[in-house]
Amino acid sequence: MRIGVVGGGQLGRMLALAGYRLGLECRVLEASVSSPAGQVAPCVEGAYDDPAALAGFAEGLEVATYEFENVPAETARFLAERLPVYPPPLALETAQDRLLEKTLFARLGIPVPAFAPIDSAEQLREALERIGLPALLKTRRFGYDGRGQTVLRTIGDAEQTWAEMGEAPLIIEGLVPFEREVSLLAVRGREGETVFYPVVENTHRDGILRLSLAPAPELTTALQQEAEGYTRRVLEALDYVGVLAIEFFQQGGRLLANEMACRVHNSGHWSIEGAETSQFENHLRAVAGLPLGSTRPTGHSAMLNIIGNLPDTREVLRCPGAHLHLYGKAPRPRRKLGHLTAVTQTPAELRERLEALRPLVDP
Ligand code: AMP
Repeated sequence: MRIGVVGGGQLGRMLALAGYRLGLECRVLEASVSSPAGQVAPCVEGAYDDPAALAGFAEGLEVATYEFENVPAETARFLAERLPVYPPPLALETAQDRLLEKTLFARLGIPVPAFAPIDSAEQLREALERIGLPALLKTRRFGYDGRGQTVLRTIGDAEQTWAEMGEAPLIIEGLVPFEREVSLLAVRGREGETVFYPVVENTHRDGILRLSLAPAPELTTALQQEAEGYTRRVLEALDYVGVLAIEFFQQGGRLLANEMACRVHNSGHWSIEGAETSQFENHLRAVAGLPLGSTRPTGHSAMLNIIGNLPDTREVLRCPGAHLHLYGKAPRPRRKLGHLTAVTQTPAELRERLEALRPLVDP
């Protein structure tokens, strides 16, 4: 079976690698064959909005999916006229716009931070009166890894930020004093069958994910069930197929939804070594209409992102139990270049491993 993957980043690379084992061939659409996915899988070189490239890409595919969240909605619809496309294009469009996304969560009764659309200075004044400070002003679209968002602590901040960002459609959110950030990854198959990975704890710095612990330390059945219940509502509302990730803030034992990703997710990379079936394999199984695999964790996992600079490979590989993944990218500040995973049988052992590994990727 041949599966089309729109986007050639590291997520596409890891999807392609998972596909090979099952005899599923991923064909990538990306501007350059030297992209992380283009290095390991057949690649159609072309722009996402080039109809000729898209038509060539679609030929001979059984199904298509995406690994990049800003794939234009028209691209997804163009493909959907020719072959099954999962996750559904409506899910992609919803996740691309923070206002549509938060509105969907709220409509489904999923708790969210206070929010309001901001298209004028007037709306900003009114929203600040209702939501209060501190607050976050974010662009509705194209924000990722902390880009396109500013914390407002004073009215002066609000005026200055409005002058800088006011051109783009914006959303304002109350700043949540969360205890921790967690995420849940779900997989829904073509017949609606659904499996969930354990809730993961995520640590960000400068808006970029640095560390995921899976399962989240002190994860209770109640928290897992709360996260699963909210995620199931989204899966069903969108008639979703594939991996869906929802990021939450945990505050006082309850969850507030921050955002969702309609694709495999960085906070699920641990599952390659730390779960019976990885998120990449399960995403392919779902979109291909194959039975889903067990999401059971095989131990306690930690995933550390490699950002900006490459570590010394020899030093990393000298650490017992360190699983190194490099994405074939040139180093650049803030760029995700790879990740490291460790899986242990106890949380205490995991802490020890982390102490040894962390200085290698974050000197
Ligand atoms: P996002 O691009 O929305 O995922 O935001 C990136 C990071 O900014 C999140 O992982 C949080 O650490 C922080 N953040 C975003 N929105 C909020 C919020 N409403 N309250 C507190 N922190 C936030």
